[in-house]
Amino acid sequence: MISKLVRDLMTDDVDECMIDNSSHYHRLKQEIQLYPEIKGALTHYKGNQNIFDYYQITADLERSLRKKVWLKNGGYLIIDQTEALTVIDINTGKYTGHQNLEETVYITNVEAAKEIARQLRLRDIGGIVIIDFIDMILPEHQENVLQALEEVVKKDRTKTNVVGITALGLVEMTRKKIRQNVLEVTTKFCSYCDGKGYTASEETIAAQVERILLEYRNAGDIEGVLVQVHPSVAAKLFGEGRSSLRELEKHCGFKVYLHGTPHNHLEEYQVIYMGSLAETKRKLEALQQKLT
Ligand SMILES: [Zn+2]
Repeated sequence: MISKLVRDLMTDDVDECMIDNSSHYHRLKQEIQLYPEIKGALTHYKGNQNIFDYYQITADLERSLRKKVWLKNGGYLIIDQTEALTVIDINTGKYTGHQNLEETVYITNVEAAKEIARQLRLRDIGGIVIIDFIDMILPEHQENVLQALEEVVKKDRTKTNVVGITALGLVEMTRKKIRQNVLEVTTKFCSYCDGKGYTASEETIAAQVERILLEYRNAGDIEGVLVQVHPSVAAKLFGEGRSSLRELEKHCGFKVYLHGTPHNHLEEYQVIYMGSLAETKRKLEALQQKLT
C-alpha cells in the first residue's frame, strides 16, 4: 500500500515525503529509482516525537472531522456531510463589528471561500457541495466572492466546478468523487444515536425513569428503590432542592435513591435494587464507595 501511495501522491508539486519507519524508508528509496517522474525527496524522519504529532497532522485530522471550522476573522463554517451532498453554512460568529456590517460580511465570505477550498481537499469531499454564503447587498461583492471561490478551486488537483447560484442564492459546486472521503474512512455511525446526531435530553430520560418507578407505586412491600443514572439525569430527577424527588416519592409511596455515575451513557439507567429501606441504603453506600 505504501508503494502505491508514494507513486500516486508524489506528483511534481510535492517537495518532500517523510517516513518514520526505517525499513519502509529503505525499501521505498530503492523502488523510487524506477519512477523518474517522482521528483520530491524521500526523507527518513528520526525524531522521537510521533511523526503525526510533530507535523501537527493529528490536530488537522481531528479538526477535519468536526463540523465547525473557525475562520481567521472570528467567523466560522459549519460543514454538514450527508450521503447525498455536503452543505456548508457561513457565519460571522463573534466578529460582529457594528462599524460596517456589509464590509464584515464581505470579508468573512471571501475568507470562507478560501477555507472551503482547503477543507474540500483536506476532507476529500466529493459530489455536490452547496454553500450558503452570508447575504450581501452589493452585487459587486457577490461577484467578487464567487470569483474568489472560482480562483481557489482552480488550484484543486481534483476536478472542481463552481456551477452557479441557485434561485435561493446558494452557490452550487461539484467536486469529482475519487474515493471515500476522510469522514467515511475514519468514522462509522455513532452507535449511541445510530447516526441521528441526537440523544434524548435529560428531561426525557428523567421522565422515563419516573414513569418506571410509578409503575411500582402499588406494589406493596417496596420501601426503597435504588436507581443508577447519568449525573445530569440525576440532577433533573432531584429538581431544585430535591423538590421533584420528594414529589415523586410521595406519589410512589417509597423512597427513591439515585446514584449518579458519569460512566453511564446519558440515555442509560439501571434499577439496581428494590426492597427494604435498609438494603437500599446499604447498596447505595456500596456503590458510592466503589466510585471513590
Ligand atoms: Zn451519536
